[in-house]
Amino acid sequence: MCNLLLATNNAGKAAEYRQLLASCGWELVTPGELGLSLSAEETGDTYEENATLKAIEAAQVSGLYALADDSGLEVDALAGEPGPRAARFGGEEATYQEKMSLLLEHLEGVPASERGCRFVCVIAIADPQGGVRLCRGECKGLVAEAPQGEGGFGYDPIFYLPERGLTMAQLSAEEKNAISHRGRAAQAARQVLKELLHEYQLSQE
Ligand code: IMP
Repeated sequence: MCNLLLATNNAGKAAEYRQLLASCGWELVTPGELGLSLSAEETGDTYEENATLKAIEAAQVSGLYALADDSGLEVDALAGEPGPRAARFGGEEATYQEKMSLLLEHLEGVPASERGCRFVCVIAIADPQGGVRLCRGECKGLVAEAPQGEGGFGYDPIFYLPERGLTMAQLSAEEKNAISHRGRAAQAARQVLKELLHEYQLSQE
């Protein structure tokens, strides 16, 4: 089986990708399993740039095909902030409890009709020669009034899905994957991986 390096140090993301890309024909490996340390900085202004930087570095360092993503939370009432900088919102060292409290403070008094937000995820798949393919997924919701739920990671407890009456953190992993930004991007990535595997197999004949 062909190896695909999951270029992330975020355990929450890695766990989601293991489910999302199960039986895709590729053997998923993590930097930790290979003893690799990846250091690409998210210096781009867009999800696409950051995902590409991370995937190319991982493919170069490992000599493998590599999948990286960049994701973020865009809040309408904050003109789309924090966006690709969501992980640094409130400072790199702030816990998610603190980041969520800060976000809720910014939205104090903002009515439900103006609490729109979306999660965005862009996946980049790089081949060892430096070629890159991109897949994007989005999921719309509202910023909740207070955190609820224990599942997921990051901002999930304040990401409210009005059609479900629940936050993302109150869904099972399967339910989250079926509707999430990462789930949608991964669906497109599965198709890309199928094509790449086919190309790879042809090149080996
Ligand atoms: P990055 O993609 O590693 O730069 O992380 C983006 C930021 O958005 C991090 O703060 C994540 O916690 C947050 N984020 C991305 N995807 C999700 C998600 O599925 N749930 C909750 N937070 C997320």
